[in-house]
Amino acid sequence: MKHNQSKLIRTQIPRTAEGEHASPMYLTSSFCFDTAEDMRAAFADETDANIYSRFSNPNVQEFVDRLCVLENAETGFATATGMSAVFGSFMALLKKGDHILSCNSIFGSTHTVISKYLPKYGIEYSYVSANASAAEWEKAIQPNTKMIYLETPTNPGLEVIDIAMVSAIAKKHKVILSVDNCFATPIGQTPIDLGADLVIHSATKWMDGQGRVLGGAIVGSKALIHEIYLFCRATGPSLSPFNAWVLSKSLETLEVRMERHCSNALFVAEKLQGHAKINFVKYPFLTSHPHYAIAKKQMLNGGGIVCFEMKGGIEAGRSFLNNLKMLSLTANLGDTRSIASHPASTTHAKLSEAERAAVSISDGLIRISVGLEHKEDILADIMQALEA
Ligand SMILES: *Cc1c(COP(=O)(O)O)cnc(C)c1O
Repeated sequence: MKHNQSKLIRTQIPRTAEGEHASPMYLTSSFCFDTAEDMRAAFADETDANIYSRFSNPNVQEFVDRLCVLENAETGFATATGMSAVFGSFMALLKKGDHILSCNSIFGSTHTVISKYLPKYGIEYSYVSANASAAEWEKAIQPNTKMIYLETPTNPGLEVIDIAMVSAIAKKHKVILSVDNCFATPIGQTPIDLGADLVIHSATKWMDGQGRVLGGAIVGSKALIHEIYLFCRATGPSLSPFNAWVLSKSLETLEVRMERHCSNALFVAEKLQGHAKINFVKYPFLTSHPHYAIAKKQMLNGGGIVCFEMKGGIEAGRSFLNNLKMLSLTANLGDTRSIASHPASTTHAKLSEAERAAVSISDGLIRISVGLEHKEDILADIMQALEA
């Protein structure tokens, strides 16, 4: 098979004697051994037999194997949530006295982990802007920098960071580069091909794609993933086999779903441009996006998220949400159903206006996760809510 999409669909748990076509669900906490010797060998890591579902499980492995196909990764480990993937990768690879350098516009909980919890364990951090040049990234590297962490496109500001540029700096200084690829999905970009060492996912979003289960994953080189595996196997943020079964099946349709999410998003973004109630529309594949050239260089599509800034600040944003008739008001994204959110009054309400401005979140900013309803219906609901 030449194409990853075919390989992904045909990567499957070996059939049992029942001859089932779809992978069965292995809802079991542990696995049995025929002999004491088999059990000893499994515990000694001499075989790769499953022992206990906190360590490994066939459904979880199938999900990881499929994701590795899409990300061109050697191996991976799946976790209960995206945040446990983020936290597990930090705790496994960083130690007291190390420094992590991150882009300042990152997912809210990731910011909390980096700025509140890592310092408790003696791990230092500093941030650079998503607009930082190569020289600014390089200047921020310290002798004790162990990892560079970034998210691109960023949530919710949709800034795009040049992964190849940052990876060249990481390689030069022998620093691990970890990229949260949640927004782009491996259909939109593959950071490992651009030089990243680790790719982190919240599978809760576009991978599940239907708002059902939480999940996460880290993929990358065997050596790094082994450290993460050992940490997670001992501390327990493992993905449930049921969620893994759902997520593995979802990966089969990720490419076709993303094609429609992205074409709907581009349609909505283009139609909203120039609207009288809006200051600007932000979408990586609009020529007006400040990082359009980088987006075109490293992404195959612009993703499924569109942002725009309403004139009239916080109150305009809140009344826009209240006037929507079809779009859901909910904290998730990457669903078949389109979702609207207003970061300044919700996810980022605790930040000061200046702190929000530093990560491209203005008071009137609206984030739309463009779903799979007909593009005309999505646009019509947004338009009527803007007019109301
Ligand atoms: C949602 C999200 C996460 C966290 O994932 P959970 O599955 O909610 O724990 C991390 N990064 C980004 C960019 C996200 O959007």
